[in-house]
Amino acid sequence: MGILVFDIGGTAIKYGLVSDSFEIIESNEMPTANEGGKANAKTVLQNLDRVMTEYKGQYNAIGISTAGQVDFERGFIVYGTDNIPGFTGTDMRGIFESKYGVPVAVDNDVNCAGLGEAHFGAGRSSDYFICLTYGTGVGGAIYLNGDLLRGAKSAAGEFGHMVTHAGGARCTCGRKGCYEAYASCRALTNRVSEHFGRYVSGREIYEPQMLEDPFIKQAISDWEDEIVNGLVSLSYIFNPPLIVLGGGIMSEEQLVNNIRKKLIERVGINYQSVQVEKAQLRNKAGMLGAAYIAKQRLDSLK
Ligand SMILES: [Zn+2]
Repeated sequence: MGILVFDIGGTAIKYGLVSDSFEIIESNEMPTANEGGKANAKTVLQNLDRVMTEYKGQYNAIGISTAGQVDFERGFIVYGTDNIPGFTGTDMRGIFESKYGVPVAVDNDVNCAGLGEAHFGAGRSSDYFICLTYGTGVGGAIYLNGDLLRGAKSAAGEFGHMVTHAGGARCTCGRKGCYEAYASCRALTNRVSEHFGRYVSGREIYEPQMLEDPFIKQAISDWEDEIVNGLVSLSYIFNPPLIVLGGGIMSEEQLVNNIRKKLIERVGINYQSVQVEKAQLRNKAGMLGAAYIAKQRLDSLK
């Protein structure tokens, strides 16, 4: 019997069937928004429901990874993403467990990605590491003694909102000087886009001819420094043996190498043995993490 999994992001919902031994048997994707171009909680739930009905009989647990803040213990959306109005307060587990009669587990996307990497990716030989994902914001997860450190309200590891520049740039959270306002991939693309007067993606910034541009060189170097600033603080807090870096931009090999080198230069002797690795599962991490929590819930109810 398989596990039905969903990975709900701001623009797309990935879903699929995962085997008991955590192989992805099939996977698919649909837009989060409905045809009018606007997403809302009702259409998202309807779409999930449609898939659950379609696959009925092929799964004995459901795992859901979603953007936003989740009460993992209750499977409840504490605060939905701005991209999905009405999502806040949704009792995902309650709705789908009572309808389909199988265990349902829900967690936020960064925790699911962290669990995916912990069990099937870059962290699979380590029971202690921190994981950061660089995209429009910066997400984080803390994997400690073989499990996620979730915190009092399932909100631990929000590294993107550490303050690295007191009184600095405005963050999407409404406060000032947060790490992600400087170290996210968006912080880099915003700076470069502004310079060129058009949108420049992270991928384009790393194209060979772009890398020769002195402005790009400086922008990348400054951005690496911002990334490392946060990692230095995290190194002193956690003294982790391993840091896993995720997000599409981290597929740039040179970037990960530079971060590793700069980090080791800037921390004390007890912190220099840290390994810095890129995440391995890319866009599958969320689905595999969702399968893992679903299996855990299934086993806990036996
Ligand atoms: Zn913030």
